[in-house]
Amino acid sequence: MGLGGAGYPERVAPSNPLLSDLDSLPFDRVEAVHVRPALDVLLDDARRRIDSIAAPGAPKTFDRTMAALDTATENLDMAVAIVRHLEAVATTAELRDAWNEAQPAVIQFYSSIPLNGQLWRAIKDFASTGEADALTGVRRRFLDKTIEGFRRHGADLSSKDKQALESIDVELANVTTRFAQNVLDATTAWEYVVPDPARLAGLPESAVAAARDSAASKGIEGWRFTLQQPSYVAVMTYLDDAATREVFYRVYNARAAEVNAALIPQILDLRRRKARLLGYADFSDFATADRMAASGEAAACFVDELRCRTEAAFQCENEALIEFRRSREPDATIEPWDVAYWAEKMRTALYEFDEEDLRPYFSLDNVVAGLFDLCSRIFGIRVTPAPGAAVWDEAVRHYQIHDASGALLAHFYADWFPRETKRGGAWMDSFVTGGPAADGFRPHAGFVCGNLTPPLPDRPSLLTHSEVETIFHEFGHLLHHCLSQVEIRSFAGTNVAWDFVELPSQIMENWCWERISLDLFARHYQTGQLIPDELFHKMIRARTFRAANAQMRQLGFATLDLALHRDSAGECSIIEAANRILAPFCPVPLPEGYAMVCAFTHLFADPVGYGAGYYSYKWAEVLDADAFTRFLNEGVFNSGTGMAFRNAILEKGNSQEPADLFRLFMGRDPNPSALLARLGLN
Ligand code: ZN
Repeated sequence: MGLGGAGYPERVAPSNPLLSDLDSLPFDRVEAVHVRPALDVLLDDARRRIDSIAAPGAPKTFDRTMAALDTATENLDMAVAIVRHLEAVATTAELRDAWNEAQPAVIQFYSSIPLNGQLWRAIKDFASTGEADALTGVRRRFLDKTIEGFRRHGADLSSKDKQALESIDVELANVTTRFAQNVLDATTAWEYVVPDPARLAGLPESAVAAARDSAASKGIEGWRFTLQQPSYVAVMTYLDDAATREVFYRVYNARAAEVNAALIPQILDLRRRKARLLGYADFSDFATADRMAASGEAAACFVDELRCRTEAAFQCENEALIEFRRSREPDATIEPWDVAYWAEKMRTALYEFDEEDLRPYFSLDNVVAGLFDLCSRIFGIRVTPAPGAAVWDEAVRHYQIHDASGALLAHFYADWFPRETKRGGAWMDSFVTGGPAADGFRPHAGFVCGNLTPPLPDRPSLLTHSEVETIFHEFGHLLHHCLSQVEIRSFAGTNVAWDFVELPSQIMENWCWERISLDLFARHYQTGQLIPDELFHKMIRARTFRAANAQMRQLGFATLDLALHRDSAGECSIIEAANRILAPFCPVPLPEGYAMVCAFTHLFADPVGYGAGYYSYKWAEVLDADAFTRFLNEGVFNSGTGMAFRNAILEKGNSQEPADLFRLFMGRDPNPSALLARLGLN
């Protein structure tokens, strides 16, 4: 299905690739000059489609109302996906400018849809028809959730309350932006220059070199350190000089303390007022209502149960660290700025495990081939190279996914290596959301991107174990998209509740830790040998080192988040309240002046962000560890189990409640025991 028949105004040159048949994605032809004209046309087109659904005289049928709404922005979505993607992976100054210029109109259009009063009336009119009454399955859910979505945007409010909601949203955007800027300013304003190399003892060479470069780039002599993550983490983990670590720790954890301590109560108050206006008891209920957790209370109970079950191991780890410290220096204490440092010393002493030793066993080609082999065994699909597609860089590979029956399910691009024109990190996204349609199955299209260790002239790309996990993780997201069998495109694939979306990705990482699946692809790139037993066991043992501390840290943040958004933090100052809540989750008492909450950008740098959502990190881990137990019990290559996972989760998108999908696969509700076992905390 192309755009050819949609009838575009003649002023647009037919050669604009963003307006041509997007079934063959024109990555080699899109240029900055195409962006604005194409998006203008597509925005007009989408607006016209929405208007014709919303028109008072329009027929109120599922096809003309709901299905039309589901596809109204499809052409626009695809063009935007292509432009955003190119801007992220093959950017030029012109493309960035073009996208920056076009973006506000695009964002404004998307956010206007749930606020469109006429459209809301049309949907309600359809909802009162006999056809709507008789809807079942994903169509029923689509109607119900659409109505819920409009209500969450205030569609049912009086005009006075609508105005109040609007001014809350404006103010919330304002205050949260200021919060984020304050953190950024405080982070970048501070530097620490070491003139004497003797004071760098303990730091790895890479950190010393980075500090040298950083100083040189500022025209300074010596070694320059900052509060940016790589610099700060290296200092806290490795620097021998405790007094300098203390300086860093204190400055880092007091960033933006005063300015943001005044903003947090404002943000919490605005969120509370918004939630109440929309009929929720507090912001945590508002934020979780359309997630798997479903209520702030359920999220809090979940976090609390994990805390109780982690507590004992946490105390043991903390005692072990003190003991280790005192084995070096009797009567020594552990201060907050010593924890990461001594933990690293202890890890090295106990495991002598160097991540680098694994690299020769993980050549990218072997890993990817092993991943495809695994997916073929368990999910019954065939992934094959499909050369010839237009790509944005010659390193990009193009593949097809076929079902066992031979049907084409999807095609996708893999772009694994860094480039100067490409942003950092690893991610997956979609270009085409296909699925079953009246005229047959329409294949999906998507991509996976990473910034993995590139090949060198004399050796292939050799990955760390965590890079291997990254490939499996992103491919899990891709399968969620590419195996979708949902007819409603906005409910297909990865368009699921965000405390559920990491289940398909994280579960894939488990296959990177099983001997039998590692043996599929982990072979020395020169000798072809499997990972030696001793190295494998070291890797497994190091996995659970201080796992209770890592977990308690996440649970502490989640507890703080929920307490603040459930209005249960108490009446004292925000810094005091936050520190009181965090204290039981910290391995040593928090020092005077600690004000981490004032730099907690996850919660406060965005109108919603991770507000009342921090728990979802652990939530998703519980789901993936639990679901993987079926493979552990029935066989990690068991195709029956794999097909059950495919049918219950990977094909279903958001067509049913996530809790029901999980039950469909596991036959019961999630249980945190598997995660605790995986972390060695049971
Ligand atoms: Zn993910």
